[in-house]
Amino acid sequence: MKVDYRNQALKILPWVCAKCGREFAGKKLRELTVHHKDHNYMNNPPDGSNWELLCIYCHDNEHSRSLEAEWQNTQVSDIEKGPTATHSPFSDLKKMLGGTGDHNKKK
Ligand SMILES: [Zn+2]
Ligand SMILES: [Zn+2]
Repeated sequence: MKVDYRNQALKILPWVCAKCGREFAGKKLRELTVHHKDHNYMNNPPDGSNWELLCIYCHDNEHSRSLEAEWQNTQVSDIEKGPTATHSPFSDLKKMLGGTGDHNKKK
């Protein structure tokens, strides 16, 4: 299960780096990433209380260990997100096998 917490966070938080105060918009927005205050990227309360928007530089500083899962996760979802990224071969397979049908709850 993958929560698109970045889109959620961008919806409810101002597009400003919480550390350096730079503002982001348009194409620059990809440099703004979601930091989890408790460093647990599985903890995504809908009110955004565990999120902080940081630019990639401040975010890097915030995590001294570059291999930290949350940071990796943020990077991947930012860069690898393309038109084909949402397509999963398994959802087709499920349909072919007569799957549940209400698998598409995501808007
Ligand atoms: Zn910053
Ligand atoms: Zn972080």
